Parts: sequence; C-alpha cells; structure tokens
Amino acid sequence: MSAPAAKSVTASLPQKLCSMCGLCMGTSWPAQESIKSCVFTSGWLGSRERALFGRERARDNPEEMLFGISSERFVARMKNPLPNIQFTGIITGIAKKAFETGLVEAVVTLHRSPEDYFLPVPVLARSTEEILASGGSKPVLAQALASLEKACQQGIKRLLVIGACCHVQNLREFQRLSPYLNGIEIYVVGIPCTDNVHPKNFRSIFSKISRSHETVRHYEFMQDFTVHLRHVDGTLERVPFFSLPQDISSSELLTDCCRSCFDYLNGLADITVGYIGAPLHIEKMYQWVLVRTEKGKALRQLIADELETYPETSAGDRTAMVRQYALRYTRDGAAEALKMSGSMPLEQGFMLAEHMYTTGPRGLEFVRYAIDTHVIRNYYFVKQNYPEKLPALVPAYVYSILEAYGLEP
Ligand SMILES: Cc1cc2nc3c(=O)[nH]c(=O)nc-3n(C[C@H](O)[C@H](O)[C@H](O)COP(=O)(O)OP(=O)(O)OC[C@H]3O[C@@H](n4cnc5c(N)ncnc54)[C@H](O)[C@@H]3O)c2cc1C
Repeated sequence: MSAPAAKSVTASLPQKLCSMCGLCMGTSWPAQESIKSCVFTSGWLGSRERALFGRERARDNPEEMLFGISSERFVARMKNPLPNIQFTGIITGIAKKAFETGLVEAVVTLHRSPEDYFLPVPVLARSTEEILASGGSKPVLAQALASLEKACQQGIKRLLVIGACCHVQNLREFQRLSPYLNGIEIYVVGIPCTDNVHPKNFRSIFSKISRSHETVRHYEFMQDFTVHLRHVDGTLERVPFFSLPQDISSSELLTDCCRSCFDYLNGLADITVGYIGAPLHIEKMYQWVLVRTEKGKALRQLIADELETYPETSAGDRTAMVRQYALRYTRDGAAEALKMSGSMPLEQGFMLAEHMYTTGPRGLEFVRYAIDTHVIRNYYFVKQNYPEKLPALVPAYVYSILEAYGLEP
C-alpha cells in the first residue's frame, strides 16, 4: 500500500522539516512563496497570532496561555451524529451547513484513498455528497492545502478550509503575505493534532498496534490512556499507551515536523473542534469546541440547533504527573527515565491506565497535561536536533511552561 501519488517540491526544500501540507504542490504560485509562509521557516503562533487577533495569547492567563485565544468553549455533540465521521461529526456538520446555506461555495478537505481506508486524498468538495464523504480521521500527514490551487482556478470566492494546525498556520500566513488568495473569503475549521505519522509508515506502525489492523475503521488516542480501535464489525479493541510496542515511537516513525509543533489546539482556526477536553463516554462521544473568532461564531451558529451542549468539566491535578514526565529532560532524571522506559505487558498496562484515568487529570486538566508534556518533549527535540531553529520556531508561551516545571531552556 502506498500514499496517493502527488507532485511535490518538498524533496527540494532547503529544510528537512516538512509536514507535507500541500501548499507548494501546485504550479499556480512559485514554491518559494509557499516556503515563505511555512511554519517550519518562520515559526508557530507569535506574529501570526498577532496578525489574526491583534495580540498574542496572554501568558498571565493560565487557560488562554495553553488553549489559545477563544471567545467561547464548551462540550458538545451532534444530536443526530452523521454517518462515517470521527466522533459525532460536528466538523462535517458545519461544512455541510456552510455549503448548503451558501456561506461558502466549496470546502478544502480530504477524502479517503481507494487504496487504503486511512490514507487521504486532497479534495475541493463542491456538493453535499462530497462534503459528507470527507468525514473521519486520516491519521497521517495530509496534503490538504493542495486543493487551494483548485479553488483559485475555479474562481471560488467563499471557501471553508478544514485542517490540522500546520495547515492552518501555513494557510493564514500565505493569505497574509502572498497575493494569490486575495479576494477569497476564507473560513477555517481546525482539528487539534499531534504525533502524526508519514503515510509510508502508517500500516507498518498500525500492524504493530492492532490485532487486526486491516479491519479497523476508527482509531484514536483517548483520555483513558488507551488507544481505541473500533473494527468494522463494531467491536472495540483497546491498547494501553504503556503497552504500545517500543519501536513505534522510534525517531524514524514519529515525524520530525510533529515533534517540532507547538500548536496542539490549532490556535489560528476560526473554530477548533476536538474531543480531548470532553468527558470520555464511549457511546455519546462528546466533543470539545473552542470558538476563536467572529467567523468561528458564525460557523458555530450554523449548527446551533443540531448540537447538545454542556459546560466544560475539570478534575484532578496534572502537576505531579508532568513533573515525573519532565524528569527525563533533567541531567539527574534522564538515566532513571531510561531504566523505566519500555513496553509493559498488557495486563500491567491496563492497570496503570485505569489508575491514571481514575486518579489523574480529566476534562480540561487532561488537556493541560497533554499540552505540557508535548510542549516539553518538543522543545527538547528541537533544541537537540534543530538548535538553529529554536528562536524562530518556539513561541513565547513555551518558555512559561518550562519555567513552571523548573526546566532549563
Ligand atoms: C493525526 C490526528 C491527531 C489528532 N489528535 C487529536 C487529539 O490529540 N485531540 C483531539 O481532541 N483531537 C485530535 N484529532 C482530531 C479528531 O480526530 C477529530 O477530527 C475531531 O475531534 C473532530 O471530530 P468530528 O467527529 O467533528 O470530525 P468529522 O466530522 O469526522 O471531520 C473530521 C475532519 O477532519 C479532516 N481530517 C481528517 N484527517 C485529517 C488530517 N490528517 N489532516 C487534516 N484534516 C484531516 C477530515 O477530512 C474531516 O473534514 C486528531 C486528528 C488527527 C488526524
């Protein structure tokens, strides 16, 4: 199985960091124009956040510092979940309504490859059927922005873009710096995203995680510290994070670009829709929504009648767990952490996952835990592997997190 063939200039990029976002795949603008906007060239958030919101996230506001700027946040689910979606289909619901009401004429998103259920094909969706066919995760790096060129060629004036954080960072900067998207009103729905894999490695990784990877239709790292794999016959397979094969987190498999990411919650989207801050419920599949801009409000309003909404919840205290995690990045703790690393037998892994889920961080506190640990890991990854990029790539809030845990920048 292979990723869909795609023309890309990424092989000739001057940099190794590339998330294959698709912006430099076309011929309508020079690749150098895309590279100028690339988040791995000029860095996460910072001036981009200022350009969108008129200010950067406040570092003295603990929630905004971690979750990004937003005007409203809540837990929600679609009253009638859509078919073939990831959770309840809030994103696909927004896209469908935005198209059917004429707010947008087309949607930049992804379809599934006919070669492999989990591989993406960039698409400019221009009908309700095409939008409905775009639901669900394709858990690999995806060239979603390749369809922007098509939107320009087709004279689209109002466009919805659905993307992960790197897509959205690159899109915003490209629209700001280059003239090619001038005159297009763009709405952006963002997914939280982390630890994505290269399409060419996906099946080899997946075959080590699942007992039957070819029959999996839903795959997600969940709040109970286990990976949930829903099979085509409806059965749920769970694998504790602590029992995942050690070699799937090897540096060759986890992409450098995802380990150089500092925008887990897609801070430049008009609206971010995930699940990570919602309570875990295996049937209800609650989601977590962050409305960030006026356009985000308009998108949320489109499906207001289709949503059940609930207030956010938060429980537990992440601090001790993050401190424990952070030890590996200290001189004294590194050797100890190495001794403790390794894959646990399943039974032991389940016991630890259960313990952490019942006594550890939940709801918003789980989000804080996830952001803190990823930021710490990624900071030291960049410092070790791309030291020359450290000043450009790392946004200011990261240093506040390092300081909070007494870590050396
Ligand atoms: C690699 C990866 C990691 C993720 N990690 C988290 C996480 O840690 N926490 C969290 O809360 N959420 C995460 N998500 C998002 C989550 O899986 C759901 O997309 C989100 O909760 C929306 O659910 P939904 O039912 O509304 O989505 P749907 O209505 O099914 O819509 C999902 C949309 O996302 C698009 N999409 C799918 N894969 C990709 C991709 N690779 N790149 C860009 N767009 C894509 C689809 O084409 C579709 O338009 C991740 C997604 C991916 C792809």
